[in-house]
Amino acid sequence: MTHEEFIEEIAKYAKKYAPQFNIKVISPIIAQACLESGYGTGIYPDNRNKVRNPITGEWRHNYFGMKYRPNRVTCNKGYFNSSGSEQKADGSYVPIETDWYSFDNIEMGVLGYFQFTNCSIYSSIHGVTDPYQYLVNIKACGYASSKDYVKNVWNTLQDNNLTRFDSVATTTPVTQKTEGIVVAIDAGHGSNTAGKRTPDGYREHWINVACAAFCETALKRCGVSTVRVAWDDGNAKDDEDTPLATRQKIIKANKCRVSVSYHANAYGNGWNDAQGVETLISNSHPADSLTLAKLAQAYLIQGTKQRNRGVKTQSLAICNCQTMGTKASILVEIGFMTNKAEADLMKTDKFCKEQAEEVAHAICDYIGVKYIQPTDSVINEIVQEVKNTPKQTGSYLVKINTKTLKVRAGAGTQYPITTNVKMGQVYTIVEEKDGWGKLKSGAGWIKLSYTIKV
Ligand SMILES: [Zn+2]
Repeated sequence: MTHEEFIEEIAKYAKKYAPQFNIKVISPIIAQACLESGYGTGIYPDNRNKVRNPITGEWRHNYFGMKYRPNRVTCNKGYFNSSGSEQKADGSYVPIETDWYSFDNIEMGVLGYFQFTNCSIYSSIHGVTDPYQYLVNIKACGYASSKDYVKNVWNTLQDNNLTRFDSVATTTPVTQKTEGIVVAIDAGHGSNTAGKRTPDGYREHWINVACAAFCETALKRCGVSTVRVAWDDGNAKDDEDTPLATRQKIIKANKCRVSVSYHANAYGNGWNDAQGVETLISNSHPADSLTLAKLAQAYLIQGTKQRNRGVKTQSLAICNCQTMGTKASILVEIGFMTNKAEADLMKTDKFCKEQAEEVAHAICDYIGVKYIQPTDSVINEIVQEVKNTPKQTGSYLVKINTKTLKVRAGAGTQYPITTNVKMGQVYTIVEEKDGWGKLKSGAGWIKLSYTIKV
């Protein structure tokens, strides 16, 4: 493999997996792989990046010089022990003998890198858009001990012009990229739809229209064409409820590539503590929706610091890409109308605007258009307000929505597995943390994105 072929290979997989881990630049990651592995040949005396296992004869791949750490990575195939040297902060080299991750192929090697850095220790690399800052941060997180690490990786990045793999949109005029792309913005329900209101009578549709209108403003600012579905102007009070089949037809007729449907969640009838933001996609015809949904959910959580309820799949007509002819269709539940603090936020323009900007940002990233920030950003203000809302949750029921789901001793993949639960089983969640739910039985925690609230 030539250097350029190696770069293309790493770039392909870095691009594929980065969005799932909220990594915004891949040029520093490609440069790390080039430097750590000598462009895939192995720069170390023992050629530890790609060598045959002496016992099994299999190739083992580790392009990022990652030392084995229990419970950090799930896509590796064991590890191998090898000696080498490591540069300390004072510039001296010390011999080390350690275990290194072993991966089956380049793709798993790249995914392994993202899994490895997807923990609280590396939180400062997530969301960073500047390649140099990314390197400064990852070094500060303890990724490398070499004193010239940032400088060396940066030089590799520049020598190979690797920023060409970062968002293409930043160097391309908006008008070229957006031609022919239409985004449908749907506002759920109608003003008088039964039930769909806060316990104190504020209608869900009014909230949905506010978000939809702000989303339209944001996308138009970025040069993206939009279509209104089930709302016609800023006045939500005179909107009838549009049947789902009609909404689908509008989206299809306008040849929309992307659609977003705005909704607000509810739990029970009165006020309670269920809260947070979630993004839904179709369970039967999602096309490429998961990519967009993950982006949207990541931005939403980053924006308002609400409870992260994750990306979920459901049988949803308004997300059915096949019927509507869309490439990606999502439904955003911006919060709970039955949570007093979230309901009060939803009644404000600034909260709806913040939600809309985050979704617009995700859509721009997804279709490859540069997102242009609003000049009157309210994000910082709103973050403070949401942070102050209470975080307790009432208990609620969830149904397992994947074949087998691991139950862990704590809220994260770093905790040991205690048992498994199966598709279709229903459990009571009594506490939430970082997208994980605690089982009432005391058996442990499950990842809520693999469940459906029932
Ligand atoms: Zn709704």
